Amino acid sequence: MSKPKVVVLGAGYAGLVATRRLTQQLSAEEAEIVLINKHNYHYESTWLHEVAAGTINPNQARFMLTDVVNPKRVRLIYDNVTEVKREDKRVVLENSEVSYDYLVFALGFVSNSFGIPGMEENAYAITDIDSSRLIAEHIEYQFAQYSSSEEKHDEQLTIVVGGGGFTGIEFVGELADKVPELCKKYDIDRSKAKIINVEAMPSILPMFDDDLVAYGKQSLENRGVEFRIGTAIKECTEEGFVVGDDHELIKAGTIVWTGGVMGNPVLSESGFDMFKGKVNVGLDLRPEGEESIFVLGDCSWTMDPESGKPFPPTGQLAVQEGAKAADNIVALIRDEVVTDFVYSDKGTVASLGLSDGIGNVLDGKKLSGKAAAAMKKVVDDRSLFLVGGAKTVLKKGKFRPF
Ligand code: FAD
Ligand code: NAD
Repeated sequence: MSKPKVVVLGAGYAGLVATRRLTQQLSAEEAEIVLINKHNYHYESTWLHEVAAGTINPNQARFMLTDVVNPKRVRLIYDNVTEVKREDKRVVLENSEVSYDYLVFALGFVSNSFGIPGMEENAYAITDIDSSRLIAEHIEYQFAQYSSSEEKHDEQLTIVVGGGGFTGIEFVGELADKVPELCKKYDIDRSKAKIINVEAMPSILPMFDDDLVAYGKQSLENRGVEFRIGTAIKECTEEGFVVGDDHELIKAGTIVWTGGVMGNPVLSESGFDMFKGKVNVGLDLRPEGEESIFVLGDCSWTMDPESGKPFPPTGQLAVQEGAKAADNIVALIRDEVVTDFVYSDKGTVASLGLSDGIGNVLDGKKLSGKAAAAMKKVVDDRSLFLVGGAKTVLKKGKFRPF
C-alpha cells in the first residue's frame, strides 16, 4: 500500500508548526509530507505593524523555509492555493494540482472591509510583508515629497488609521516612534504631521481593563496620537475617511484600514460552511463531517468549552493548534484515537511602540510601560522560537546578543 500523503497549506504559525512536528514524529516510511506556501519564506504576522511603520526591516520579520524545514523530508511547493476539491481530495494551485490523504488548511487571514464603500480601493491594509512594506514606503514618500514641494498641503503628512483593535493600536504606537524620526530626516516641523486613530466603539482595545486602556491611550496621546473614538467610518475615498452621521471627511496622505480580518477566501471557494468569515471546527480541529481535513489558526473558530465562545484568533492559538493537528494526523495514520485540543493561555500584551506597552500576563497580572514592552519582546521571540527554532531567534530575534 502506498504511504499516506499529508499536505499542509500555508507556512504561517499553524502550518509551519504542524509541518515541523509531523517531520519530528513520522518517519519517511510512514508518510509523505508536502508544504505549500505562496512564498519561499515564512513571515511573522505578529510583527507586521512594525514593518508597516518602518520601525523594523522587512527581512527581520521573515526567514527562508529551507532554513527550518528539510527539503529532503518535506516537499516544498511555492505556489498560490486557489481551491480545495474536497470530493476528490485535490488541492488546486495556480500552476498545478496536488492530491492528499490528510489536509491541514492554514492559509491565515485577509483584511475584512465589511463592505465599507471605497475601503478596498483606497486604503492600505497590513496583511503580509509586501503590503506592510508598501505602507512604510508610501509614508516615507509622502514626507519626502512634502519636504521638496513648493506648495505644501499639510494633510499629506496625516496618517489616518481605521480601527482601534490590537493591530490599529500597535501600529499607531510604532508610528508615534517613527514620525518624529521622519520629521527630523526631512526637516519638517513635528506639529505638522498628524497620526489619527478612528474607532467606532466607545473604547479602544476593549479586551483590556479600563485602567490599562486609559494608560495606553494617554501614553499615545502624549506622543502625538489623536483619537476619534465612538466614530464609525462610513466610507473611504482617495482623500481619507468619511466618518459619523454628518459625513465629515478626515483628509490624509496615508490611509490604513485595521478594522478587522477574516479567514482566507479559499475557504469559501472550496465550499466550506462559513460562519462570520471562518469555518467552525470541533475540538479535534476538524470541521463537522470531515475525517481528514484540519482547519487551523485564523481560518477557523474553535469553541472554548469553558466560556462557550470561540478562542480569540491569535498567533498563540495558531501555534498550539498546529501542534495538535500534527498529533491528531499522526494518530489517524497509526490507527490511534484523536484527542481534543486544550488551549493554554499565556496572556496578552499590546505594544505601544518600542519601549511602551500594556498587558495581562499568565497569572492575570497587569503590566504597563517598559515592563510590558520587554514582555512583548519575550513573547515575540518565543513565537519565533516555536516556528523557527533557536538558530532563527539568534539571527532575527528581538533580544539579540549584539
Ligand atoms: P498566518 O500566520 O497569517 O499564515 C498564513 C500563511 O499562508 C502565510 O505564510 C501566507 O503567505 C500563506 N498564504 C495565504 N494565502 C495563500 C494562498 N492562497 N496560497 C498559498 N499560501 C498562502 N497574535 C498574537 O498572538 N500576538 C500578537 O502579538 C499578534 N500581533 C499581531 C500583529 C499584527 C499586525 C497582526 C496583523 C496580527 C497579529 N496577531 C497577533 C494575530 C496573528 O498574527 C494571527 O492570528 C496569526 O498569524 C494566525 O496564524 P495562521 O497560521 O492562521 O496564519
Ligand atoms: P479587531 O477586529 O480586533 O479590531 C478591529 C477594530 O476596528 C475594532 O475595535 C472595531 O470596533 C473597529 N472597527 C470596525 N469597523 C469600524 C468602522 N467602520 N469604523 C471605525 N472602527 C471600526 O482586528 P485587529 O486589530 O486587526 O485584530 C485581528 C486579530 O488579531 C484579533 O483577534 C487580535 O486579537 C489579533 N491580534 C493580536 C495582537 C496581540 O495579541 N498583541 C496584535 C494584533 C492582532
